[in-house]
Amino acid sequence: MNQLNLFIHGRPIPSTSAETIPVLDKATGETVALATESGRDDITAALESAQSAFEGWRRMPAQERAALLHRAAEAVRAEAGPLAQLLTTEVGKPLAGAMREVQAVATLLDFFAEEGLRIRGEIPQLNLPDERVFIVKEPVGVVVAIVPSNYPLILLSWKLGAALAAGCTLVAKPSEDTPLATLRLAEILAGAGLPPGVFNVVTGYGQTVGKALVEHPIPRKIAFTGGVETGKKISALATQTNKRVTLELGGQCPALVADDADLEVAVPALVKHSFDNAGQYCYRINRMYVQAGIFTEFTERLALATRKLKVGSGRDPVSFMGPLVNERLFHKSMAHIQDALDRGARLLSGGQRLTGPEFDGGFFLLPTILTGTDHSMLVMTEETFGPVVGVMRVESLEEAIVHANNSRYGLAAYVFTQNLANALKAAERIEAGSVWINDIHRSYNEAPFGGFKESGLGREKSHYGLDEYLELKTIYLSL
Ligand code: NAD
Repeated sequence: MNQLNLFIHGRPIPSTSAETIPVLDKATGETVALATESGRDDITAALESAQSAFEGWRRMPAQERAALLHRAAEAVRAEAGPLAQLLTTEVGKPLAGAMREVQAVATLLDFFAEEGLRIRGEIPQLNLPDERVFIVKEPVGVVVAIVPSNYPLILLSWKLGAALAAGCTLVAKPSEDTPLATLRLAEILAGAGLPPGVFNVVTGYGQTVGKALVEHPIPRKIAFTGGVETGKKISALATQTNKRVTLELGGQCPALVADDADLEVAVPALVKHSFDNAGQYCYRINRMYVQAGIFTEFTERLALATRKLKVGSGRDPVSFMGPLVNERLFHKSMAHIQDALDRGARLLSGGQRLTGPEFDGGFFLLPTILTGTDHSMLVMTEETFGPVVGVMRVESLEEAIVHANNSRYGLAAYVFTQNLANALKAAERIEAGSVWINDIHRSYNEAPFGGFKESGLGREKSHYGLDEYLELKTIYLSL
């Protein structure tokens, strides 16, 4: 099996390092590729390429840059099928979800193409006879994007789309578990006309390659999505050279279900948002606080709907959920389940790994619901990042709000009550970057996404996400 290339200065190039990382098909456990553990020279080459491309890219007329981003979006759409296949192989997710992820990347590139045309400066009207002041926005410079394994392309595109629209160039490092679709994306975008050096990809482990990228003097900004503890390390390292950082970190997202919730809507929404992508996404529901009056009916409906979810290979069109990405995440889920059971919780559904010839190669875990949970348990306090959810009975919406805020995380929250005044008051009091009321829609490109408290720093998507890649400059002119 050949070692995979890196993508530097507009083309795939072999690494100077012979060290490799096996990339597994997550459903079967087979090695499908050997990714490169990039060496120091590769990292420097990629960053120097981004630096050399920066001047040309930032000076490109905004309309031309927008046209290129639209062409990039079209090229992604044209390759959606093969890209989705790569995602299904390397992440394990069902093909339909992988297709949605690729389409979302194209939509996002289109969005940022247009948003880049709306970057505006300012002239304060100071009425000074011989002086003028101009406030302009400039791209921050070379950006390093470090991305996790759960949504390799969409989480990269939140950074890439905004960075390119702002006039920045970028070096991406995908997760060591999922480098395939990212490397292919770089080829596709270069084929669409992106100039060499504007988007580069190096691969490897976080503690080595990721760390070296953060430490390097060339990048001016680190855009990171991943775990809270990794985010803190990256932030501390980036601070040493005052690099800008955006951190999209973990969540421990609560759902609050009041006695008057519409369960016809609430239950399917909560089930989907607990177990989609095998529970591997930051703003999934980890814990539910359910008011006493509907607790029994709610948990019965929740269990019934959850038991209907089909777990299997992402290539099987009936699968709702595939395997977990790696053994570490599987053990984390199992540890959270065991911890809850040891402290008195009960299993309402799931709790086991699937076994048998079609499952033994991957880490397939049944969607798991625990009841009788409280805040002494990891499932209610720490991010599981797997298909495990804790349900706790509460007497009032007020009690639910207090529990919801009793967390170091603050990424997203969900409120279900038909009393809109109560819903709005709860949404206003919950410490989270996004709150959904009475159903769970997708998170839109036009709206900012990010976390309160330890869940992150800065925002992605929308014009706020674009601002994260722009510096303000004040120009004083004496007439
Ligand atoms: P992780 O933090 O282990 O790894 C994420 C990325 O960081 C990988 O590319 C990894 O190689 C790299 N990395 C690891 N250590 C590093 C270091 N010391 N220096 C530089 N880079 C390093 O996370 P994971 O387990 O792959 O992903 C799951 C986490 O991501 C969860 O906590 C999840 O909530 C979070 N996440 C957050 C969002 C969001 O938008 N807030 C979205 C998706 C996932």
